[in-house]
Amino acid sequence: MSVIQIKDKRFKTFIPEEQIMKEVARVADEINRDLSGTNPLFISVLNGSFMFTADLMKHLTMPCEVSFVKLASYEGTSSTGKVKELVGLGDDITGRTVVIVEDIVDTGLTMKQLVETLRARGPKDIKIATLLVKPDKLKVELDINYVAMNIPNDFIVGYGLDYDGLGRNYRDIYTVIE
Ligand code: 5GP
Repeated sequence: MSVIQIKDKRFKTFIPEEQIMKEVARVADEINRDLSGTNPLFISVLNGSFMFTADLMKHLTMPCEVSFVKLASYEGTSSTGKVKELVGLGDDITGRTVVIVEDIVDTGLTMKQLVETLRARGPKDIKIATLLVKPDKLKVELDINYVAMNIPNDFIVGYGLDYDGLGRNYRDIYTVIE
């Protein structure tokens, strides 16, 4: 186990690279089995999912495409408070099988909003593939089709995920030391 320091917080190894790779390959196998012949469009949600997306894509065997989007947060004037706007999706997704590739689903609010935004663009089907889920924090009903790993509620970094912009470069996933 190793301990790293990022700004004011210390983190320890939580999920080693070998285990991440094994679970990502398993998820890819499931997607290969379910979606062969559908020419899916993978929509990777930046920044956090860039490593997961890259490793997942390497295992896919069907003809497929990938696009990268960002969710720009701004304080909305509506009563719901935070609004996340989808940026960067140039593709026409009408009638297509779409797979959202996300780093982590926490409350699920981000994912729910993204699914609704994409659904309005008329895809045939929307699947969700996420590296991580914190099941105890889920606040909304979500049909998550592919999950690499379920984790407890603690804050994690590494393998694409950051703390204040740092820590995305680590190969392992680390959990915060209280
Ligand atoms: P949700 O809308 O599901 O509550 O939030 C999902 C987003 O919160 C993720 O895409 C990610 O950016 C961020 N997030 C949630 N939990 C963690 C965590 O433990 N570590 C990091 N680095 N980001 C997290």
